[in-house]
Order: sequence, then C-alpha cells, then structure tokens
Amino acid sequence: MPTTERLYYNDSHLIEFEARVIDVTERVSGWTAVVLDRTAFYPTGGGQPSDTGTLNGSRVVECIDDGERGVLHVVQGFAPARETIVAGRIDWARRLDHMQQHTGQHILSQAFVKLFNAPTKSFRVLESSCEIDIELNSPTTEIVERAVELANNVVWEDRAIAIHNVTAAEAAEMTLRKEPSREGELRLIEIEGFDLTPCGGTHAYRTGEVGMIAMRSWERAKGMTRVEFVAGTRALTDYRRANRSAREVAALFSCGRDDMAQHAAQLVEENKELRRQVRALEEVAAGVEAARLSVSAATLTDGTRVISDVLENRDAEFLKKVAHALIAHPHTIALLGVREKDAAKLVFARSADARGDMNVLMREACALLDGRGGGKPDMAQGGGKNVVKLEDAIDRAVALLGQS
Ligand SMILES: [Zn+2]
Repeated sequence: MPTTERLYYNDSHLIEFEARVIDVTERVSGWTAVVLDRTAFYPTGGGQPSDTGTLNGSRVVECIDDGERGVLHVVQGFAPARETIVAGRIDWARRLDHMQQHTGQHILSQAFVKLFNAPTKSFRVLESSCEIDIELNSPTTEIVERAVELANNVVWEDRAIAIHNVTAAEAAEMTLRKEPSREGELRLIEIEGFDLTPCGGTHAYRTGEVGMIAMRSWERAKGMTRVEFVAGTRALTDYRRANRSAREVAALFSCGRDDMAQHAAQLVEENKELRRQVRALEEVAAGVEAARLSVSAATLTDGTRVISDVLENRDAEFLKKVAHALIAHPHTIALLGVREKDAAKLVFARSADARGDMNVLMREACALLDGRGGGKPDMAQGGGKNVVKLEDAIDRAVALLGQS
C-alpha cells in the first residue's frame, strides 16, 4: 500500500486540498480512521499536537502517524468511502498556533545554544503554554531572559525559513543544532543565518510570523532547566490574562497596576503585625475568660475545683489558652468545649496537683461526639461531628470525675 504523501512537508500554509481515500477502518471508539493518498493534516509527533479540521465536512478530531501505513485521520460522523475523492480542510487557527509555538521553540532553543551552549533535550506544546527542557547548569531569571530577548530579536528581524531535503551524507557535512533522530534522507529547517536543524514539523514562512516569545516561568527539573514559554497568539492571550489579574488586584489596593507588588508586600507585613497583636490580646482575653469561669467552679468532696463550660464563637486554640490560665491555680480541672462550624472541640486539662486522667476522660467524651481524641493524663484534646452532644460529653466527663 502506498504511504500517504505529506503535503504539509512542502507547504505549512496549505489548508485546503483534495485526496483519494485508500483505506477506511473502524476505531474502538466507534469513530473511523481514514487513510488518504495525500494529506495536509499534521499528525501528532515531535512534541506538537495534531491538526484538526474536516474531510467532506465531517470532523477530523485527531491525526495519528502510523508510519508505513501513512496518516490516520480519525473522523467523527459520516466517513467517506474507499476510492472516493474527498475535500480536506485544516483548522487554520490551530495550525497557526502550533506553528508559532513550534517555530518559536526552534528560535528559543538556538538562542540558548548561541548564548550559553545549552542544548534543548525535549519540547512539548501544552494546552496553553509550551515547555522546553534545556541543559543549562546555573539558571537565573536574567539568564533565561537574555535568551528570550535574543529569540525575540530574531523574530522581529523577520528572517526567512527554508526547508532542505538532503541525504545523510550531505547532512554529515553540515553543522546541525541537534543530531537527526532518523536515518536516510533528512528534512532540514533553516532559519536564515541563525539555525539549522532536522525536523518534520510545520513551521512559519518567516520568523516574523511567530510574533513574539515570552517566558512564563522556569524551574530546575530532572537535572535540567525547564522553561515554560508562550509564542504568538498565546503570548497575547497570556498577556491579557496576566494584565486582567494584575488590574483586578490593583483595584483592591486602589493603586496603579505596576505599584501593586509594593502594596501587597506592605499588606502582608501589616497582616503579620496584626496577627501578633491578636495573639497577645487573646492571651489577655483568655485570662479574663478564665477569671469569669473560675467563679462558677464546682468543688468535689476532696476539694478539687472543676470548671466545665462550652464557649461560643471561639476556636480550639483559644480554648487551650483558657484551660492553661485555669490550671495555673492549684487543685483545678478544666473541662472545656467549643462549637466550631461542623465540629465540636474539647480541651481537658488539670493542674499538676489535681487527680484524674484527662486522656481517659477525653476518650469517653469523644465517643459521645462520634469523634476521637486523647493526650496525656494532665492535658488532652479531641472532638467530633456530633455537635448537639457537646454538653452531654462534658457532663459525662464531670460525672466520671465524681465517681473516681
Ligand atoms: Zn520543527
């Protein structure tokens, strides 16, 4: 069976073509795979996702490179019959986007080689950005930005991009950016006066078509430097999104977009200081609360003072502070609870000279709350979801103390 002639090899801007159907097979998904004698559809490969489009009006949702068999066009809906002539159409917006990312990658990868002798090891076009993994040993934002700047200059110089089909022997005489991954005749992509590399993908006619290249982020990954970038329309989309977020945050501060970082840093500092003040005030409040509760202490036959209560609108941390303030007094046991949103919390504590095992009491109380808890004989914490049983749980602990 003759393999598919790949029209995209010669013209990356060809979006309409006619071809003959040479094979039709059903896919497990229920869709149909159509093989043509020629195609302008680029199949998934080399880090670049496949084209989509239509064959005689039916959706082509994906194209797969099946090697010798050619390119499989996965068609959704009515599929053409074998030996018929079909009209194919590529989704241009998607093709242009992929060409911009892919050509942008050629340029950016060569910029890292030229400036830092750092070759690219892998490349991926993702949903809304792209990634390259580079052998760059000590990356900094400044270093990455220098490569991005060189790449953009090459874009704006609008250099011609040429395709050369050469033999392996001819290629061996040339300086290529990366080793060819296949044997035999090679397809070389030349960016005039800048880059020469073997590649089977779709590229812009001239570098200007890439528009611009912007770095989103970089990180160390698997011993290499991973650079996330966007090119062409993706760069504009990303700029719009970043600008919108920045302006929304700036509006919250009633400041200009570019003063936002300074205002945010100031707010974080103020917040830290406020937290410190709140903690200090909570200590005071816990002391006041402890003094109030202390008045209502029950006294057991052996003289132990038992303070039990449920506090409202407080959290478990505050409960602990109150308990600590209470057990600073001798012969004292504090059995405190608090209702948070969907959970009841308990803190049981006793002074060093009081009797009773808070750990045991806590386990018994938490069983009533359908929860769990525990700790040491002098201090235990716990809680559970059965919020309505909170008072019962504390009463249970008081009763157990009375029995012992
Ligand atoms: Zn390429």
